[in-house]
Parts: sequence; C-alpha cells; structure tokens
Amino acid sequence: MYRAGAARQKLHDYVENLKEHDANWISALNRENKEYSTLRNRADRLAAIAKLHATNAALDCANRAVQIFGSYGYQKTSRVARHFLDSRAIVIYEGANEVLKLKIASLEMGDKYDAY
Ligand SMILES: Cc1cc2nc3c(=O)[nH]c(=O)nc-3n(C[C@H](O)[C@H](O)[C@H](O)COP(=O)(O)OP(=O)(O)OC[C@H]3O[C@@H](n4cnc5c(N)ncnc54)[C@H](O)[C@@H]3O)c2cc1C
Repeated sequence: MYRAGAARQKLHDYVENLKEHDANWISALNRENKEYSTLRNRADRLAAIAKLHATNAALDCANRAVQIFGSYGYQKTSRVARHFLDSRAIVIYEGANEVLKLKIASLEMGDKYDAY
C-alpha cells in the first residue's frame, strides 16, 4: 500500500512538473508518452493490488471479530457487526474485487491478455 501511494505521488509530481513547463501539457498525457504511460500503469497496477489486498484483509479481520465476540458479535447493534457489514461493502465498491483481479491480470500480462 505504501508502494501504491509512492507510485501515485510520482505520477502526480510528473504531471505537476509538466504543467509548469509545458503550456500544452494536457495533450502530452497519452499512451505515446512512454514516461507518463509507465508511471500511470505502475500507479494503477499497485492501487488495484493494494485495494484488493486491504479490503480482503479488512473483511477477514471483521469476520474473525464477529466469531470472537460470539453471539454479541452477531447482534446488529454491536460494533463488530457494523464493521462486518461495512467491510462487506468495501469488497464491492470502488472496483469490485473480482473485477480488480481481471484488471491486475491485464496490467501484469499486457494489452494482449483478453481478460474481459
Ligand atoms: C455501500 C455502497 C456504496 C456505494 N457508493 C457508491 C458511490 O458513492 N458512487 C457510485 O458511483 N457507486 C457507488 N456504489 C456502487 C458500486 O460502485 C457498485 O455496486 C460496484 O461497482 C459493483 O457494481 P454492481 O453493483 O453493478 O455489480 P455488478 O457489476 O453487477 O457485479 C456483481 C458481482 O459480479 C462480479 N463480477 C462482475 N463482472 C465480473 C466478471 N467479469 N468476472 C467475475 N466477476 C464479475 C462483481 O465482482 C460483483 O461481485 C456503492 C455500492 C455500495 C455497496
């Protein structure tokens, strides 16, 4: 996750630097621009991996917490039940995890990989 953050920061710095030195900067942000393309692909790939890993870990933790708290954990008004419900949602939104797996496979294996 730290690597994903660092990759995103590098991409951000590249774009900000371009903005300062090139009035036509927006047209330089395309696939033909190898430096931008490499930074963008790396940031996208690591963000997808981080989201997949972190949300699966959160769901696993919340699920175990419900078990540890026993019947109290199952009560809808308990805090662990709330965490379980919320962590169930995060594997669906901001990129459903199954779809992220396909995205990661495409980014790892290149444009020719027919994931969808
Ligand atoms: C609590 C919550 C808050 C939300 N907030 C927002 C918001 O603020 N703004 C917003 O725009 N949207 C929001 N959403 C919507 C969310 O982004 C979508 O629910 C999410 O993108 C999944 O899309 P979908 O519901 O259409 O499911 P579908 O795309 O129909 O997917 C259903 C299931 O099938 C799986 N699936 C889909 N395609 C494939 C495939 N090719 N291979 C394998 N499995 C596949 C998915 O992983 C998922 O498990 C929210 C959703 C929830 C649950």
